[in-house]
Amino acid sequence: METVNPADLQLILDEIAHSMAAATDRGQPATYIPELGRVSPDQFGIALCLPDGQQLSAGDAATPFSIQSISKVFTLAIALGRLGDALWQRVGREPSGAAFNSIVSLEHDRGIPRNPFINAGAIAVTDAILQGLQPRDVLAELLQFLRMAAEDDNIHIDKSVAASELAHAHRNTALAEFMAAHGNLQNPTALTIGTYCHQCAVEMSCVQLARAGRFLAGLPGCPRPVSPSRIRRINALMLTCGHYDASGDFAYRVGLPGKSGVGGGILAIAPGRASIAVWSPGLNAQGNSKLGAEAMEHLGRATGWSVFG
Ligand code: GLU
Repeated sequence: METVNPADLQLILDEIAHSMAAATDRGQPATYIPELGRVSPDQFGIALCLPDGQQLSAGDAATPFSIQSISKVFTLAIALGRLGDALWQRVGREPSGAAFNSIVSLEHDRGIPRNPFINAGAIAVTDAILQGLQPRDVLAELLQFLRMAAEDDNIHIDKSVAASELAHAHRNTALAEFMAAHGNLQNPTALTIGTYCHQCAVEMSCVQLARAGRFLAGLPGCPRPVSPSRIRRINALMLTCGHYDASGDFAYRVGLPGKSGVGGGILAIAPGRASIAVWSPGLNAQGNSKLGAEAMEHLGRATGWSVFG
């Protein structure tokens, strides 16, 4: 991977923010969670953290947004720390090739979700860390993890987004019930789904998210809540499963581990180089940020950052 001078990088970020501000086809914000549907699509932010501790940003990088499925990276880190490899008895490690909320493969795979980043898999992970605890304990642990990783205490759950998702959680509840029917849910469905909806409703800005991702990029001088071998594995899952049925396309176009959320955020990791967060609320057909993915592709082209050399 190339080394890019921070002054050049700032110019690249400014150029990306400038061209994204002018974009006319911005995708549509998610509306199945009504509160997310109210967010203006006219927003774009990008931030990155570098090995020397510098932080660069452009556009609406300080605006908090709903991290949604990006939370799944952090609950996976917590679950692996708590359960170790026993977690893999409850969730697989294969790309699903299906939509984020698909129930189809659950039947074929007897209630074992394909990976921890599709909704069913993330619900199983949340259920695993909820075992023996109350939802508030798990959510407090997640917030503590994020605040410690970002070194920023101003990270919270947006309760109106959580309530909005919970009021429309029929599909996620169906996934949980289906797993329960196969013995792959340990807690009452309502407790697991309530916890899951709240974890998805954490709000962070691009700057906070890029800072929270520094440990995944192995940047020096940041908190290290997870061992290097586990980081490599989380990154492998982000690369292969982080964008649902567009994971292959993101790997092809960007070449970096990444995780998207229906709030329009993407966290991407250039190992040893940078932790990158981008946000724009309009989504493409696969439920990933339209401009966010385009911005990441632009950044990859301009920097040469790719895990494929
Ligand atoms: N909270 C969302 C859901 O369960 C997460 C999906 C996403 O961000 O991709 O539908």
